Amino acid sequence: SKKLVIPNKAESVKVVVRCRPMNEKEIKDGHERTVDMTVKKGLIEVRNPKGLSSEAPKSFTFDSVYDWNSIQLELYDETFRDLVQSVIEGFNGTIFAYGQTGTGKTHTMQGIKNDPEQRGVIPNSFEHIFQHISRSENQQYLIRASYLEIYMEEIRDLLSKDHTKRLELKERPDTGVYVKDLSSFVTKSIKEIEHVMNVGNANRAVGATDMNAHSSRSHAIFIITIECSAMAEDGENHIRVGRLNLVDLAGSERQSKTQSQGDRFKEATKINLSLSALCNVISALVDGHSTHVPYRDSKLTRLLQDSLGGNAKTVMVANIGPASYNYDETLSTLRYANRAK
Ligand code: ADP
Ligand code: MG
Repeated sequence: SKKLVIPNKAESVKVVVRCRPMNEKEIKDGHERTVDMTVKKGLIEVRNPKGLSSEAPKSFTFDSVYDWNSIQLELYDETFRDLVQSVIEGFNGTIFAYGQTGTGKTHTMQGIKNDPEQRGVIPNSFEHIFQHISRSENQQYLIRASYLEIYMEEIRDLLSKDHTKRLELKERPDTGVYVKDLSSFVTKSIKEIEHVMNVGNANRAVGATDMNAHSSRSHAIFIITIECSAMAEDGENHIRVGRLNLVDLAGSERQSKTQSQGDRFKEATKINLSLSALCNVISALVDGHSTHVPYRDSKLTRLLQDSLGGNAKTVMVANIGPASYNYDETLSTLRYANRAK
């Protein structure tokens, strides 16, 4: 088995929280905001809407917090850019969006198409990577993209013609854990890699009677592999490979016992399993003293094994909603994020 190398934890795992603005409906319905944030201090306070006025708010602190005024590029520059840069330099990196459905995971990852200011981390990383390539000299880059989803602990290729086929996880001593038969496309420009992303997004919706509901119950992982070859001073060609995993996690909301039966209940159980496995892996890495990191407890953590820990960087964005009716889920997300940090 592999030796566990855990560098400076502050370097390798970062957890930030982002709270979306109230939406039109919440404003129209006169919902109260129960989340207060002091951005400069990384502080979040959540008031219990049903509590006594004397009840102290629950407070949390994180590496960084982003309130409803935050903009996409600010997150990219402060929180994601370093990680993507390290992937360009040959390390692995993973960005997760965690949170209850409707709190802004997809907004953070993808953003709003055709609005440059609202672009999420995925399109911003395309720009970053291809801009780097266009400015580099004496280096050859090969950029490949894959896109998969994990639904009910089953892996499906979002870029294959038959995206309902289940794929298997395999392991090789030289390359580590990989998805057998996963398609991967070489992309030579922002346009090409955007096209790959759009195809995957479209496939994700196919077969789902309710796209929003489906996407909230599966994890979507967009994978960019960056291979760079350069002539070193010794006259030899050196190749380094970095992998960037961009993960839009399944919604973390608890299913109510009465509503979730049959398939819904099974889905909920699998989602809970993989999200708690992820939390356990991250907290074992952050702890730094764990001799065992439980990668094998879910497909998600197993698939990302070589990109979590070691020299890899991880950023988790925990997304929350500001309104009082989200109180329980908001608290549960903050507790999860707090455990992972
Ligand atoms: P999730 O993927 O977590 O279910 P979405 O990203 O789809 O949530 O967000 C739900 C809605 O809220 C979308 O209409 C989205 O555009 C909007 N939204 C989310 N976060 C923000 C934000 N930070 N600023 C503006 N709108 C947001
Ligand atoms: Mg979403």
